[in-house]
Amino acid sequence: MIAAPASDVAVIGGGIVGLATALACRARGLGVTVVDPGGIRNAASYGNAGVISRGSLFSMASPGLRAKLPRYALNREAAVRVDYGSLLAVMPWLLAFVRRCDEASWRATAAALDPLCSAAYDEHWRIAGMIGARDLIQRRGWVKLYRSEAAFAASALERDILGHHKVAFEVIDGAELPQFEPALTRRFARAVWHTETGAVSDPGGLVHAYEAAARQQGVEFVGARARTVVEGDEGARVLLEGGGEVEARTVVIAAGAHSHALTRTMGYRLPLAAERGYHRHFAPTGSHALTRPINDTGGAYVIAPMKAGLRVLSGVELATPDAAPNHAQIGLAEQQARGTVAMGEAVEGEAWHGSRPSTPDGLPVIGRAPRHRHVVFAFGHGHIGLSTGPTTGKVVAEIIAGEATSIPTAPFAAERF
Ligand SMILES: Cc1cc2nc3c(=O)[nH]c(=O)nc-3n(C[C@H](O)[C@H](O)[C@H](O)COP(=O)(O)OP(=O)(O)OC[C@H]3O[C@@H](n4cnc5c(N)ncnc54)[C@H](O)[C@@H]3O)c2cc1C
Repeated sequence: MIAAPASDVAVIGGGIVGLATALACRARGLGVTVVDPGGIRNAASYGNAGVISRGSLFSMASPGLRAKLPRYALNREAAVRVDYGSLLAVMPWLLAFVRRCDEASWRATAAALDPLCSAAYDEHWRIAGMIGARDLIQRRGWVKLYRSEAAFAASALERDILGHHKVAFEVIDGAELPQFEPALTRRFARAVWHTETGAVSDPGGLVHAYEAAARQQGVEFVGARARTVVEGDEGARVLLEGGGEVEARTVVIAAGAHSHALTRTMGYRLPLAAERGYHRHFAPTGSHALTRPINDTGGAYVIAPMKAGLRVLSGVELATPDAAPNHAQIGLAEQQARGTVAMGEAVEGEAWHGSRPSTPDGLPVIGRAPRHRHVVFAFGHGHIGLSTGPTTGKVVAEIIAGEATSIPTAPFAAERF
């Protein structure tokens, strides 16, 4: 039975969003307790590509996606696979998602995400300076690679939207790529270099640094899973699995993809799905080191140079967070990645997998819970939670402290569903 002291703020979830929230609340002098069973290796904040992206303004619900759905549904594409056993559970998300595959919705998502993404790198750098983790962050941009002129031309709308939001990028001709990134062994027709994007060389290490700083600053940690949240007049209680509870004036739900199950226990039916992803590290063997993360759009994988080796990451697998892993997709990604950068043996035995906590419109859910005034939601960051976690933490602390938020939060309200 765990008995935790009453705090000003209890944060459920110790991933990047929860820990950034804890740090930002602590900086305002609030007493904070983080509830998390531990084992950061299970969190998306550990296993991502480490990209602090300025230009990730796009939801997966792109205008051209409907035409590709039959191939996705039959698991014929490496970019997206469906776990058929999870299909019923993800159906409400899927239907809402498909309804949004049009240009107007895509542009609306980009406009809402722009303030969050444009603040991302500076907020990362500021906190990394505070907690002594700047050695984990570089800013050499990241590169999207196109195998054909047709594929490059088909992504023109993306560049139009990036230009509209003043996101800096440079188009690099295929012939110039070998000088720009000598580690590439595959020929590409074009590349788009997002120059303001940063990269983390050890996302798990960064999260550890956040946690260590939080502990040092007096944040309490309770090693348990939250079962549900019950609201009272003066605050809310987090009821823990196995017994016990944590009381606080405000409870923040920042449990990544598991926020879906938690909010259901409180009577919400939010369309939150797990877009699962896999990664595996390989020893680099080429004479040139890869200097920045790359995304081969034709092969639907990312290679990110990390402390642990070359991290190869798969596309999306629609599945419930706890469904059994299927390593077919990361196998395909590895095959394709080997044609792009020289790689040796895998560094670890089995591929990692984890869940991008995803909404149909590609926007996170940030703000007070519609029917619980002592509860704040902070989840659903999809493909960009590592980038935008620190800014989310700052905004959540502003909401709790009753301050004006530093970015507009109306598009992120849970009421939109
Ligand atoms: C393959 C892949 C690649 C990615 N690449 C990038 C990238 O390059 N750039 C980028 O910006 N983003 C990327 N992302 C997305 C990013 O990793 C996530 O959006 C982000 O990590 C979400 O952070 P979070 O704190 O919300 O959730 P998580 O990191 O998943 O943390 C949730 C925490 O909640 C805890 N928890 C869960 N349930 C409970 C409960 N009931 N009680 C208590 N605690 C609970 C868990 O233990 C965990 O610690 C990627 C994701 C994946 C999977």
